Amino acid sequence: MNESLVDCHAHLIFDNVDAKKIINGMAGVLDYIVCVSTSKMDNLKVVKLAEKEKNIYATVGIHPEYASETNPEDYKLIKKLATNKKVVAIGECGLDLHYRSDNFLKQKEVFIKQIEIAIQFKKPLMVHVRDAEEQVLEILKEYRGRLVDVIIHCYSSKNENITKAFIDLDVFFSFAGNFTFKNYRREDIKLIPINKLLVETDSPFLSPEPIRGTQNEPKNVHITVEKIAKVLEIENNKLKTILKENAKRVFRL
Ligand SMILES: [Zn+2]
Repeated sequence: MNESLVDCHAHLIFDNVDAKKIINGMAGVLDYIVCVSTSKMDNLKVVKLAEKEKNIYATVGIHPEYASETNPEDYKLIKKLATNKKVVAIGECGLDLHYRSDNFLKQKEVFIKQIEIAIQFKKPLMVHVRDAEEQVLEILKEYRGRLVDVIIHCYSSKNENITKAFIDLDVFFSFAGNFTFKNYRREDIKLIPINKLLVETDSPFLSPEPIRGTQNEPKNVHITVEKIAKVLEIENNKLKTILKENAKRVFRL
């Protein structure tokens, strides 16, 4: 029998995403989905969905893409929602120099605010990082020992040293469909302690090979898991059990 899985990072509140259909199709495939917010508009919506649906959990936060329009009211709402028991992390938040660098100071400010909220509410931090690994490492080092946990979502290694620096910080690494892509540095996963591995889809983005380019769905998470199992030379169901235990631990479920 095939073990079920969990999707640690998916966007269900999104254009052209049929959350109802995804939730109805979860039975026997996915135990639960962590529905991630990216903006002030979504924070209330993801929590509402999680309150209504037993197998959906939520994160609240602001993605660096939306950093510029963030104001103190938004932090107030995040703090209010962070006390909801279905909210399992703060984020996704972080730094992104790939899409834009013009608002980098503001990105930093918004990221740090959310780190402080995660510390205050003892929630793990769901981090987005793209082309800003060194800057994220520098900030996380400052908060070392104060954050309950950090998840680097959709982890993609630039080089071994960066992976090792994140390992030193004791973070969780969440792998998405890009792990299956041709040019992805898969070898680095062998450096990471197995109790720090998580898996996600980041759907509707990042469909894994061989369905790359189509709209992704949480149920596709098994494709990435199978690829990880191959690279780590570990039995598939055994890996699934470990991934579920890791998720349970990091999200305090
Ligand atoms: Zn995401």
